[in-house]
Amino acid sequence: MSEPEYLTDSDARLLCPECGRASTRVDQVFVTAREEDAPANEIIVDAIGGDVVTHGRGQAPVDPSVGEGRRHRVALVGRCEEQHRFALVLTQVDGETRLGWSPELSYDGAEVDLDDPPW
Ligand SMILES: [Zn+2]
Repeated sequence: MSEPEYLTDSDARLLCPECGRASTRVDQVFVTAREEDAPANEIIVDAIGGDVVTHGRGQAPVDPSVGEGRRHRVALVGRCEEQHRFALVLTQVDGETRLGWSPELSYDGAEVDLDDPPW
């Protein structure tokens, strides 16, 4: 699941990377904000409740095909109607933006329960 085989259907609807269904929702945005090799400011925006966390305790989801990278990273976290969770990750690497999926959602070393988030 590290390489995005497909992202959308012909109607530009985001598809679940697990089951391919178009009934998806994106609920959180994670931003690892940093200049090259600088310490990260982990930012989380909850799109449902409107909460914003800065200098979070954990780490945004990582695309394993590129790793953490040396600069910033943005992850869109959501789920499909079948409750498959996903993170679509954009990582800045060598002047390029790499797009990929994170196979698991963890935060601060623990699995994320999106109904009771740890941040
Ligand atoms: Zn799914």
